[in-house]
Amino acid sequence: MSTAPLTGRRAIVTGGSRGIGAEIVRRLTSEGAAVAFTYSASGADAEKLVADVTANGAKVVAIQADAADPAQTANAVDRAVAELGGLDIVVNNAAVAHMAPIGEFPGEQFDRLVAINIGGMFWTTRSAIKHLGEGARVINIGSINADRVPGPGVSVYAMTKGAVSSFTRGLARELGPQGITVNNVQPGPIDTDANPDAGDFAESLKLVTAQGRYGHTTDVASFVAFLAGPESGYITGVNLNVDGGFTV
Ligand code: NDP
Repeated sequence: MSTAPLTGRRAIVTGGSRGIGAEIVRRLTSEGAAVAFTYSASGADAEKLVADVTANGAKVVAIQADAADPAQTANAVDRAVAELGGLDIVVNNAAVAHMAPIGEFPGEQFDRLVAINIGGMFWTTRSAIKHLGEGARVINIGSINADRVPGPGVSVYAMTKGAVSSFTRGLARELGPQGITVNNVQPGPIDTDANPDAGDFAESLKLVTAQGRYGHTTDVASFVAFLAGPESGYITGVNLNVDGGFTV
């Protein structure tokens, strides 16, 4: 009988209550990892996810923590370490989007995107790093919009995802000698609450992909699980697109 590849590994996933993050929680636990995930508002979704995953016999912990708040983020990491007995995998997934022309872009939305999409990644990683050892993984969820922006109104979101890409490279260089890999998974259009397949922009986004369609949360989660696993140890510091050919 083969052992699940992530058996014995302990992970934290930020923004795990819904969408891509929730699918990552399901996938990592199905491959044997024990997982803590954060959420900010979707308590009912978080509870349901915990119930589903626990029913499958896996260890999962939901932690309410606003990714924009450094203290809450640090507490979430501490609690994850306490509940799981350590930490091997960090998935920085929590992010929000807001679209508006730059001349009308609300200042509070700018602050929110920077605080969650960049700050959340920084604070989570900063708190987690002292717990990570040889073979650990940091996996950031960026966006293909860091590389290609096919329409207006997306500049601030794209900027935050460009920061994810740059942070990934710098951190990979810093943590390489410790045997810790750092990578940036860049999804294209994926069917979630944030970007529904039937949403206002869906048809135009489909046309940008080579495949003419949206992807599924499982497309991203399966790739994250590979990066979290034992066979990805020589991949670090790169942007890895799961985008149906958004940039070709
Ligand atoms: P969703 O909006 O569907 O889900 C976002 C998740 O993040 C939810 O679990 C939400 O929980 C959580 N979250 C949001 N704000 C906070 C916060 N302040 N603190 C903690 N958790 C928070 O997004 P997606 O699943 O679509 O996106 C996931 C990632 O993938 C993001 O990084 C996004 O930028 C990226 N991405 C998505 C694409 C897509 O087409 N869907 C394309 C490219 C990149 P709660 O409701 O509890 O706040």
